[in-house]
Amino acid sequence: MVLNPGSTRLWRENAGLPYAVAGAVALVVFAIDAFTPLDIAIAVLYVVVVLLVASTGSRRTTTAVAYGCVALTLLAFALSHDEHYSGGAVARCAVSLLAIVTTAMLALRDQANTAILRERLELLDLTHDAIVAHDMNDRITFWNQGAEKLYGWTAAQAIGQPIHELTRTHAAISLEDIRREVLRSGGWQGELQRVRKDGETVMISSRWALWRDLRGQPVAILATNNDITDRKQVEHALRRSEAFLSDAQRLSHTGSIATRLADGAMWWSEETYRIFEVSTDVAPGIEQIVARVHPEDAAAVGEAQHRVLTGEPYVDIQFRLLMPDARVKHVHYVAHLVAQQADAEYVGALMDITERVVAQDALDRSTAELAHATRVTMLGELAASIAHEVTQPLAAIVTAGDAALRWLDRPTPDVAEARQSIEQMTRDAKRSTDVIRRIRGMARKRAPDEAVLDLNMVVRESLDLVRRELESQKVDVETDYSAAPQRVRGDRVQLQQVVVNLMLNAVQAMSGIKPGARRLVVRTRAFDRRHAQVVVEDTGTGICEADFDRLFSAFFTTKEDGMGMGLSICRSIVEAHGGRIWAESREHPGAVMQFVLPLHEEMCHEH
Ligand code: ADP
Repeated sequence: MVLNPGSTRLWRENAGLPYAVAGAVALVVFAIDAFTPLDIAIAVLYVVVVLLVASTGSRRTTTAVAYGCVALTLLAFALSHDEHYSGGAVARCAVSLLAIVTTAMLALRDQANTAILRERLELLDLTHDAIVAHDMNDRITFWNQGAEKLYGWTAAQAIGQPIHELTRTHAAISLEDIRREVLRSGGWQGELQRVRKDGETVMISSRWALWRDLRGQPVAILATNNDITDRKQVEHALRRSEAFLSDAQRLSHTGSIATRLADGAMWWSEETYRIFEVSTDVAPGIEQIVARVHPEDAAAVGEAQHRVLTGEPYVDIQFRLLMPDARVKHVHYVAHLVAQQADAEYVGALMDITERVVAQDALDRSTAELAHATRVTMLGELAASIAHEVTQPLAAIVTAGDAALRWLDRPTPDVAEARQSIEQMTRDAKRSTDVIRRIRGMARKRAPDEAVLDLNMVVRESLDLVRRELESQKVDVETDYSAAPQRVRGDRVQLQQVVVNLMLNAVQAMSGIKPGARRLVVRTRAFDRRHAQVVVEDTGTGICEADFDRLFSAFFTTKEDGMGMGLSICRSIVEAHGGRIWAESREHPGAVMQFVLPLHEEMCHEH
């Protein structure tokens, strides 16, 4: 190695001392050679002079000194031998000259090599990478500006120091293993942790190359180092956010799916694999999804896929998966188109909503059961009214029957009158059958039954059910039906339940008011172009400001024996029909309860 550990910068010329020594040696040699009668080839020692000068690195000086030494040798020979040259003296002079010339040539060649290496290393000095060379004993022999910047030590401080102690190198594998690997394969590449002069820890990406001499002996290791501390921190942050994301996906049962529009290539997150229950070794693709889609939802999914392929900007679809073991999963997929270019992708979330759907089903079932229970309770409360509804036509039938008999028992039976009485009987019988049918309809437990209904009819039938109650409570009833039918889609019994409930609440709210002032107004009307409205007004206690918000909450009641379920059920029914229910207070005492329902589509055009 020609790298000089003694210099601050590698190439600093510090020639003063070698020149002085060389001059002194040359003088002594010349003096002995020229003025002493020694029969030895003392001039050979000029070699020392040449080597000393050559060691300073100056090519021109070395050549000049070599010529000088040759001249001195010849001069000394001339001075010391007059005209009598012995053969031995000539041979000694020739040996000396040969030695000087050979040494000079070797030194010059060495200098040429050094110059080339120097040029290369000077180039290394210019690079921003930190380049460090160290010998096989780990002593630093080269330390460029990049290294000064990266580690904080100057070349003067670093050169000659053991690299690993100086920088407190720490690697994932032992330094011994790294060294073995370098000797085996001629190089190594990896990450090292080091400590800068200021004590700060840095992560280094290091690339090592083994430098061998002409005989193939390893002489040094040249390492290129880059500071990757920031990159590592970014990687770390990225890894952490990926971990957060994957945790969040697992906890919320939400997977990600990206689909490249151009060729349909897909990427799934781990959670997506878990939802589809597909092994992560399998390449994601539409075939994997199709294989899992419930046959009954296949058409809808196919249609959504078609929409995706034709570049629709937003897709939102809920469907079922059928697992190989016949389990059914409910999923909700929402995706949007990212970028419109050729590399456009659909990026979306796939949520496993099985638990929610199952819970919602259970909730719907229990709400239905509760609704049924409250209906039965309501019917219990209405027992007197119902009994009246049925007994009244029955009594009328009996009267009409008696009359018919009397008409027939006449000496000349009056068939026409009898027929009229019998017709009256049939009408009354029908009336009671209707009442009983409605009551049975309300008491029966059944799934909702959708039909197109006229809200006016719904209100009329509900009034029929509570008429007796209104009469016994001495409530004046005023009805105000819209002239046009208000057609809505819905379940007749459920909507009757809402109206009956509002009217019974009104009756109860007026129980403390003096009988003459109990007044119930029921209206139906068009609310806007798309909604029909039912309004139930009373002159009862009214609703205090604080209760407005919780009126419709389950179990909110101000009655001693109240259940607080009536309005809550009304709200579920109205909302399930796509409508809205609310309460208002009036200036005068009393409350106004009202709800709106979307008009059946055909109706909307008529307005
Ligand atoms: P419940 O009738 O069992 O109390 P509801 O849900 O039907 O349950 O009613 C909840 C509460 O709303 C009642 O306790 C009452 O305080 C109030 N409320 C309902 N309708 C009226 C009304 N027309 N006037 C005054 N208050 C009412």
